Amino acid sequence: MQSTPQPARPAAQTTAHEGILRRQAARESAARTYARALPIVPVRARGLTIEGADGRRYLDCLSGAGTLALGHNHPVVLEAIRKVLDSGAPLHVLDLATPVKDAFTTELFRTLPPGLADRARIQFCGPAGTDAVEAALKLVRAATGRDGLLAFAGAYHGMTAGALEASGGASTVRVARLPYPQDYRCPFGFGGAQGAELSARWTENVLDDTKSGVPAPAGMILEPVQGEGGVYPAPDAWLRRMREITAARGIPLIADEVQTGVGRTGAFWAVEHSGIVPDVMVLSKAIGGSLPLAVVVYRDDLDVWPPGAHAGTFRGNQLAMAAGAATLAYVRENGLAERAATLGSRMLAQLRSLAAHHPCIGEVRGRGLMIGVELVNANTEPATALPSQATTSGAATTGPARTGGVRTGTAHADEHLASVVTDLAPTAQPHPPAPELAAAVQRECLRRGLIVELGGRHSSVVRLLPPLTLTDEQAAAVLDRLADALATAARAHPR
Ligand code: PLP
Repeated sequence: MQSTPQPARPAAQTTAHEGILRRQAARESAARTYARALPIVPVRARGLTIEGADGRRYLDCLSGAGTLALGHNHPVVLEAIRKVLDSGAPLHVLDLATPVKDAFTTELFRTLPPGLADRARIQFCGPAGTDAVEAALKLVRAATGRDGLLAFAGAYHGMTAGALEASGGASTVRVARLPYPQDYRCPFGFGGAQGAELSARWTENVLDDTKSGVPAPAGMILEPVQGEGGVYPAPDAWLRRMREITAARGIPLIADEVQTGVGRTGAFWAVEHSGIVPDVMVLSKAIGGSLPLAVVVYRDDLDVWPPGAHAGTFRGNQLAMAAGAATLAYVRENGLAERAATLGSRMLAQLRSLAAHHPCIGEVRGRGLMIGVELVNANTEPATALPSQATTSGAATTGPARTGGVRTGTAHADEHLASVVTDLAPTAQPHPPAPELAAAVQRECLRRGLIVELGGRHSSVVRLLPPLTLTDEQAAAVLDRLADALATAARAHPR
């Protein structure tokens, strides 16, 4: 496996490749996304590897934004699709019953967390993750008769109106946003168990304070690992607290496993790490085995919908169900979740060793094969310093104590807060994010034949979402190319 830029391409291939890219840029919407940062024209693919129209080969750690649990064109997926095509079965049947759908549902229910599986109902909705999120939000609103929602800062749930509203970038008020625990940029400045505990207490307070301005919500939606938000795994204890808090108040808990599901994080479903049983699960991406498919799975007592309450034309994609059933079974039978856990831990450890030599790596985090490397401007000082860092502890009592960026009103309050802050041992302030450096790393990776995604609040997190079938040798090649790309980009961007 090479970690140097790939050789020059034959002229004819270059022309075809460039023509396609030129026409795409001229004809497609300005909203196109991946196509901008990744100017490649895939023509063939297998497993981890994509071959471009220019004849170049790439290791694909984007995996269709985490869709391809088995990589590209896995033999069991192709076989399942061929079997349906050769059988003469209808490809489009709305939501009618078919043997293919029956087999998919049976396989999916087999994998669900016990406790939900026994009492599960499934709704086949439109084929994208965002459709499943819409369906879940609509369901809990119908079931509770309430309207508001709880969601988390940094969340990403999709691009349709309701899903966007629940995502971190939205600015509407029907969704109350809560702090998601994170170590590196903890909103409370502490990280770790203390930061997570403060996040949980804030949630309780918002719900129990009759003047919090947040009415009783229809549900809480969360990602067990925030993916697009920058790869933040929720601590298991915090997830259990969210489960307790919502259960105690009769608030349905919706786990958005669109990206984390099907073994990606080292458990078949990411909620299994904490042992919680959500009331609703939103599933898409990998469940379709690389074809479009999304479902909502929920406990039977929430099934208050009248017939036709959530309809849609494309809810019966037979090829996706066959590909999905084959993928779910293959991941289960071959222990690929466990494999993701082992290999993911090793890759995280190797990336953390790399970080020791690169001050521009602010943090390496992830779970299983959902990995993020946050890049920072290490030469730029953090924007604000915590009292204990900026001053002596005595001076901190009169300085600008950190209360969500607001000065405390009285000397007494300052004193009290400073002592709490000191007791809780705040973590060091992180350096500012480095989106330009991250973009440069992504470009350098591509030059070396490695496709990575960028994510995070500031697009400064290099993301790896390789297939769960990744071999040890492939993992080494991915990390080699990434390390090489990082070194080159860091030299060119000394800040
Ligand atoms: N939820 C999560 C957690 C996601 O990561 C995504 C997409 O990345 C979605 C929902 C939306 O899925 P889709 O892009 O298929 O609409």
